[in-house]
Amino acid sequence: MAIRDTALAKITEYFDSGRFQSELAALVARPTESQDPRGTPHLMGYLTEAMAPMLTEMGFTTELFDNPQPGAGPLLVAQRIEDPALPTVLVYGHGDVIRAQEDQWREGLSPFELTEEGDRLYGRGSADNKVQHLINIRAMAALIEAQGKLGFNAKVLIEMGEENGSPGLKQFCEEHKELLASDVLIASDGPRLSPEAPTIFTGSRGGSLFDLRVDLREGAHHSGNFGGLLADPAIILAHALACITDERGQIAVPEWRPDSLTPRIREVLSVLPGVESGMALDPDWGEESLTMSERVFGWNSFAVLAMVSGVPEAPVNAISGWARATCQLRFVVGTDPDDILPALRRHLDKHGFDKVEVVPSDRGAFPATRLDPDHPWVRFATASLERSTGTAPHILPNLGGSLPNDCFAEVLALPTIWVPHSYAGCNQHAPNEHVLKSLSRQALLGMTGLFADLAEHGAPEA
Ligand SMILES: [Zn+2]
Repeated sequence: MAIRDTALAKITEYFDSGRFQSELAALVARPTESQDPRGTPHLMGYLTEAMAPMLTEMGFTTELFDNPQPGAGPLLVAQRIEDPALPTVLVYGHGDVIRAQEDQWREGLSPFELTEEGDRLYGRGSADNKVQHLINIRAMAALIEAQGKLGFNAKVLIEMGEENGSPGLKQFCEEHKELLASDVLIASDGPRLSPEAPTIFTGSRGGSLFDLRVDLREGAHHSGNFGGLLADPAIILAHALACITDERGQIAVPEWRPDSLTPRIREVLSVLPGVESGMALDPDWGEESLTMSERVFGWNSFAVLAMVSGVPEAPVNAISGWARATCQLRFVVGTDPDDILPALRRHLDKHGFDKVEVVPSDRGAFPATRLDPDHPWVRFATASLERSTGTAPHILPNLGGSLPNDCFAEVLALPTIWVPHSYAGCNQHAPNEHVLKSLSRQALLGMTGLFADLAEHGAPEA
């Protein structure tokens, strides 16, 4: 039997014997909340008691690291170097979860107890991200079992702070470039576009967060005595916002309109299934000439996340002295990240809004990344996943949301292949989070085949 088929048989047995489910249950049982101090002791435990033993047994050497940012979760790097001449894959995952929200789960469910109901396995962190790195690690294990070796080199990086915005991850990658040096990132997070077919995405939109502030004077002033005499900061702010987009949200700042929606990217996006969200979308919102997929994956979007003037809970008859909006631009490659706020400043000045201040958030900006959908690694992974699962993958140049992908794409300069193992309805970041057994089984086959193909054929020619 060919190695590939042997490995696929091993991983099928791993799933069908119930081992997959019991290993996932053991991972979910660890309350690794990174957003709540009660989770702190479990962050290290996840690495030392769950990940390190699993990887050691697979012939990896493991090393634990404190986060370069004091107080943030630890990191684990495991590696199995078989021959420096072989290609090296970096696998990334995060073992931390968002807060449990234990009082909001449906009756019969409990966040840290994996509960089976039909095709679903419920538990906090089941989808985000424990099942995802478990699948990738066990796919490699099946290949080792099948042929006594991987046939390539692998490095596994597990962080424990992703749900807090991956503090220290970028610095860690910068400080350990040599340790993490690889030929490709193959990692999993987030949902597939549809539950039945694999998805490959290669980057993410960036985000820039900032405040718009109109601060005209100390205190509020009686609207009877001063109405008509004192400028109203909320009205000025509203007009300033209205010059950033038109009434349907189409961006009017010239530099905020990306130049990267090429005919090829449009072609790639055109074959994707519609955006599945479980709620009615607004076809009359956003860039009118674009399809829904192009709006969220191929274009920039501006949002007002919050805005306030005066005291909304207890309004008084007075003209407020100030108004403030917290805003965000989600942007794709083809937008100069260093020019986002300067371009807005120029645009506001041009429209006469010199009283509107642009204040960058200290939560900062994250860059946009995207790999060419025709990159050899994308073609390689696409063909392999189709062969193992019998289903052609959906190719997404980038997620609409964000990931710390710049750490890998920019700091480590790797081609980045993300193969998500969850689906849109998984209740990630909400009560009743779950994974699908059928999807997990297919994903195990897909990843095992992908690693087997890499072992057999080597890295694709760039
Ligand atoms: Zn998450």
